[in-house]
Amino acid sequence: MPGTPTLSIVVPMRNEAKNLGPLHERLRAVLDRLGESAEMVCVDDGSTDGTLDMLRLLRAVDPRVKIVSLSRNFGKEVAIAAGLRYARGDAVVLMDADLQHPPELIERFLELWRRGFEMVYAQRTDRRLDGPLRRWLSKAFYRLFALLSQTDLPPGAGDFRLMDRKVVDALNLLEERTRFTKGLYSWVGFKQIGVPYEVAERAEGGSRFDLLALWRLAVDGITAFSTIPLRVWSYLGLAVSAFALLYGAYILIRTVLFGADLPGYPSLIVAIMLLSGVQLIGLGVMGEYVGRIFAEVKHRPLFLVREAIGFDESREPRPDAAEPRGSAAAPAPGPARAGTASPSR
Ligand code: UDP
Ligand code: MG
Repeated sequence: MPGTPTLSIVVPMRNEAKNLGPLHERLRAVLDRLGESAEMVCVDDGSTDGTLDMLRLLRAVDPRVKIVSLSRNFGKEVAIAAGLRYARGDAVVLMDADLQHPPELIERFLELWRRGFEMVYAQRTDRRLDGPLRRWLSKAFYRLFALLSQTDLPPGAGDFRLMDRKVVDALNLLEERTRFTKGLYSWVGFKQIGVPYEVAERAEGGSRFDLLALWRLAVDGITAFSTIPLRVWSYLGLAVSAFALLYGAYILIRTVLFGADLPGYPSLIVAIMLLSGVQLIGLGVMGEYVGRIFAEVKHRPLFLVREAIGFDESREPRPDAAEPRGSAAAPAPGPARAGTASPSR
């Protein structure tokens, strides 16, 4: 392979063995037509179904296929982060392995990239393929996210996108553990443009996400990009306390004027329960953030690689400011290399 590839295709995959053949076939057709030097960075995210063997087979027939095999399942967001660290292209395309993202769109991406756009994202025109519940939930999430955070998420944009090297380097600088990638894409800025597309049916198997995973993703997204849930409680507490003070004064005056009587127990109990409920919710929100702070301060490597196949060992790793402590270089090939820093703690 001569020098640095122009184009890297990064594909996170978990248990996608059956989809890899068709995916590679269509990708190869597109890449051959483009005539660019390219690499396919396939990140095996702890698959258990022979995805890795399949990748080795593909690599035997097409040396553009490169393999990053994570030591276990780290989740899609982290698999993407791993792929972006290893990708060497001047432009990096991110796509799913299940053929929901038509590879043919890459030609259009490249065209826009050449015209100076630094991030070209695919925007799905309809969500008919998701069930009604998922559709409704995702709409509710986007509303809430827009309300709570300063970051704009373009509607219908997912992970299918092309990024200039500058953008990839910027994303690689972000060290946070709970990675809500969709928010990060917007957060880094740069010159962006959307390309509408129609999302295809998943080629094989069901979605690798269930509702619980999506819920966690939603909580991650909101807590990573907004501190409003954390701060809103002090205002609520203030309002409730003010009300309680006024009410207390009222009772005092009433007692002085008309004497004491016993009724009021029900309202007392209700007030106590309501307030303890509010406090518990507040504590829970604190817990969410404290938990994340805990995760961040541990500074664990984002991912561990069991094996990286096909990456040029002689090449210096890209200058990667994501290693502020100057420890182990990021994507140096080799067994059990950490994603950031040395695998301490
Ligand atoms: N994926 C992954 N790790 C995971 C879950 C999913 O790398 O823990 C990959 C999966 O193999 C696919 C992509 O992420 O290539 C998108 O997953 P999926 O199609 O299940 O999600 P959906 O399209 O429903 O959002
Ligand atoms: Mg999918």
